[in-house]
Amino acid sequence: MTAPKTSPRLEIRDLVRSFDGKRVVDNVSLSIAPGQVTCLLGPSGCGKSTTLRMIAGVEMQDSGTIHVDGALICDTVFRVPPERRSIGLMFQDFALFPHLSVGENVAFGLKGAGTDRKARAHTLLDRVGLAHFIDEFPHQLSGGEQQRVALARALAPSPRIMLMDEPFSGLDNRLRDGIRDETLDLLKEEGAGVLLVTHEPEEAMRMADEIALMRAGRIVQRGAPYTIYNAPADRDAMAFFSDIN
Ligand code: ADP
Ligand code: MG
Repeated sequence: MTAPKTSPRLEIRDLVRSFDGKRVVDNVSLSIAPGQVTCLLGPSGCGKSTTLRMIAGVEMQDSGTIHVDGALICDTVFRVPPERRSIGLMFQDFALFPHLSVGENVAFGLKGAGTDRKARAHTLLDRVGLAHFIDEFPHQLSGGEQQRVALARALAPSPRIMLMDEPFSGLDNRLRDGIRDETLDLLKEEGAGVLLVTHEPEEAMRMADEIALMRAGRIVQRGAPYTIYNAPADRDAMAFFSDIN
C-alpha cells in the first residue's frame, strides 16, 4: 500500500499576467506545504504583488492554474470567487475597520452565531496578547498592536493559505522582530501555508522555510534561505543579498 499523498496547501503552475503587452508575471510556479512559509523575495516592480493578487482572486491571470489543497480554484475558464478560496490576507495597507471594535474586526469574516464568533475572536486576540482590547477601537491601539489584530482577523476563519504582502514594512524596527516571530509561531500552529512577499532579504532570511527569488516576472532561484544566501544563482542575486550582515 502506498502512503496517502498529501496535497500542497497551495500550488500555482505557469501563472502569466501581462499589462500593456508586457509580461509582469512570466510563468511563475510554486508549491507550498501545510505549515510552510515561502517568501517571494525580489526588488520593487518585479511582479510579487501581482502574483499574490492572482492567488487571492482579485486579479485574473492570462494563463496558468491555481490549486488549494489539491482542488482547482482558478484557470482561464473556471474561477472560484475570492471569498470562497480559504485564503487569508495581510497587506501593509489593509487597514482595520475604524468604526468597528477590535473584537468586531476579528469576527468580521466569520459566519455563525454571535457568541461563537465572539469566542473565536477572543481566542485569537488572546493568542496575540490583546484580549483586553476586545472592546476598544483601532485608533486606541499602536501600529504594532493594530498589525497583531490584523493577523488575528486574517486567521479567524482558519484559512488554508495566508498571503502576506510586506505586512511589516510600516512598523518601526524595534517592534518588527518581535511581531515577525509571533506571527510565525501563530501561522505554524494554525497549519496554514504561507506566502510572504518582501523586498527585504533580511526579512526573508528570518521568516522563510523556502525563498523564491523573483526578478523581472520570473522566479530565478528557489531554495532554503541559507542555500540561497551562500550560493546565489548569479551576480544580481548576490548583489541583492550583499547588504545583509
Ligand atoms: P512588486 O509587488 O514586485 O513591486 P507589482 O506586482 O506591484 O510588483 O508590479 C509589477 C509590474 O506590473 C510593475 O511594473 C507595475 O507597474 C505593473 N503593474 C501592476 N499592476 C498594474 C496594473 N493594474 N496596470 C498596469 N501595470 C501594472
Ligand atoms: Mg508589491
